[in-house]
Formats: sequence, structure tokens, C-alpha cells
Amino acid sequence: MVICAATGNAGKLKELRRILSALGHEVKSQKELGINLEPEETGTTFEENALIKAEAICKASGLATIADDSGLVVEALGGAPGVYSARYCGRHGDDAANNRKLMENMAGIDAGRRGAKFVSAVTLMLPDGRQLTCLGECPGRVGMEEKGTNGFGYDPLFIPDEVGTRDGKRLPNREGRTYAQLEDWEKDAISHRGNALRKLQQMLPLFLG
Ligand code: IMP
Repeated sequence: MVICAATGNAGKLKELRRILSALGHEVKSQKELGINLEPEETGTTFEENALIKAEAICKASGLATIADDSGLVVEALGGAPGVYSARYCGRHGDDAANNRKLMENMAGIDAGRRGAKFVSAVTLMLPDGRQLTCLGECPGRVGMEEKGTNGFGYDPLFIPDEVGTRDGKRLPNREGRTYAQLEDWEKDAISHRGNALRKLQQMLPLFLG
């Protein structure tokens, strides 16, 4: 199916394209379609914000559209940065400043109390108004320092409990590598976004009727 990816975030787009292509879809970014809209994320949950974005961009593109709203939920911080992950430092999308703020706010929290999870809500919106939202999570912990250069956002600070294999299986993350130290396939097979999109794919036949 041809799907418009409703995001202006280059790192997220790369992953959406990678995962959805592997599931057999053709992805067009909103930029490729000449859509410069950045809908305001006024929701208080990942699901609400995914729906806001999918609805606006589907209307503009006239295509089946997928939006992802995602973020890092840290236990010791009462769930922060959560839905505010992209703007934790006060500006939207400044990954380096967001990571610095996370490290500052977690200074003094010992290794045993750094549990966290990544969450992704993905909404598929069809031009006829039908919509499907799925949630994916990835449990892990926040590292003591940034490690690795792959990916985007909080990747250098997040240590997932598991890593994926090339054929999509899961293994314990024995070396404690961060998302940013994983190969693409090692992340996609266990990531919050991968989990949400695979769930959506599973529900697609019933949803499309
Ligand atoms: P959104 O555009 O409001 O969904 O913002 C998501 C934000 O959460 C991003 O800007 C990143 O800061 C963070 N985030 C979401 N998914 C990931 C990921 O896979 N790796 C690292 N950071 C992520």
C-alpha cells in the first residue's frame, strides 16, 4: 500500500521508511509530497498526538497516512519526558540539548533506578476517515553517559533490554549497548516503533476489510 509518512523528523522518517518497506509498503514522506504542515501537538497522550498528526496530513495528502507519536518514559522522573520528549529542553527537536537535560535530571540516580521505556503510538488514517491506532513499547534503562552514533534523539542514552537479530528474533542485550550502538535491524526488531508497526500490520487485513 502507498503510505504517506506524517513527520518532519528525519530520524523518525528513516525508520518509518525502513520498517514499512520491509513490511511491503511504499512510503512517501510529507516533504516529498510538498506538505510543510507541522500540526500542533496539543494532546496529552501519545495516541491523541498521533491522531492529530495523521488526520491533518491525511487531509493534505489525500493518501493513506501514518503518524507516529513517541517518546521516552523514565520511571525515576515520574514518566518524563514522555509526550514532551521532542521539546524537553524547551525547544522543539534539539536532540543534544534534550540529552543534556536528561543527564542533568538523572544525575545522582544510581544504576538500579534508571528503568525506562520507549513508547510509540502509530495511527493509520485513510482518506475515507477510517483510522487505526496501535501502541508499541520497548523496555530498558537510561545509561550513565551517551554512547554510540547511530540513530537520533535519545538513542545514545537508551539501553534496551533486548536486541534483535537479522531474521527478526530477540536476544538479551548482554553487552548493555545503547540504541545508538545497534545496527538498524538490531533496533527495528525490538524497538517501540517496530513493535507498534508490526502490530498495525497484523491488524491491517481485518481493518481494510
Ligand atoms: P514526536 O515527534 O513528538 O513524536 O517526538 C518524538 C521524540 O521522542 C523525538 O524527537 C525524540 O526525542 C524521541 N524519540 C522517539 N523515538 C525515538 C527513538 O527511536 N530514538 C530516540 N529518540 C526517540
